[in-house]
Formats: sequence, structure tokens, C-alpha cells
Amino acid sequence: MHEFSMITQIVENVLKEAEKHRAKKVTEVNLVIGKLTFLGLEQVRFSYDVLVKGTIMEGSKLYIEEKNGVVKCSSCGYEGDFMYEDDPMFHVPTPTLHCPKCEGVVDIVRGRECTIKSVKLIV
Ligand SMILES: [Zn+2]
Repeated sequence: MHEFSMITQIVENVLKEAEKHRAKKVTEVNLVIGKLTFLGLEQVRFSYDVLVKGTIMEGSKLYIEEKNGVVKCSSCGYEGDFMYEDDPMFHVPTPTLHCPKCEGVVDIVRGRECTIKSVKLIV
């Protein structure tokens, strides 16, 4: 349950922030999730609903903005989208860490973030 532990941290941080502002209620949470985190958005929403129950975040809206991943190749300098290939194990397209130009190994530049963009509170 990758999503559950990620969202546990997010919810803890939002609650800490709300406490700092002495908020009575959290009404909205905006998240930015990079596609290379491989978080399932449905599981994210499910985990969120479970975790906010009984807290001042209960009933708040969760908005998720997905950010594309960007990779960079150190051999040829390619920078851009990462490639997908079909994984025969799971029958789903999985990103590869190979350069589309030279087949070299690429580094992930962006797309691994899972951050709180903004939160709406009632104080
Ligand atoms: Zn390359």
C-alpha cells in the first residue's frame, strides 16, 4: 500500500498546518502528484477518505494535479518525456529508464514529487 503511506504523510502535514493556524476545519486540499510516483489515483482518494475520517479534514475536497515526468540522458543530452513499454507481467505500459534516442540510461528530472500545493482552512 504505497498510496496509503504517502497519503498518511500528506494528511499529517495538512493537520499540522491547520493546527498552526488554529483552523476549525479543512475544506480543500490540492495535491501535485508526479506521474513517476506511480501512485494510483483511485487508491489515493480511497486512502484519503479513510485517513481524514474523524479529523477536521473530514468532508474536505481533494484535488489532484498530475505532473508529467521528465527524464534526461547523460550520454546524448535528450531531455523530455519518458518512454513506456508493455510489461508482459502486468499487461500495462510501464515507463522504462531508457533513452528514446540512444537507448542509454536516463535520470529522472521531474515526476517523483507528491506535494501539497495549497490547503483551504476555516479559522
Ligand atoms: Zn540518449
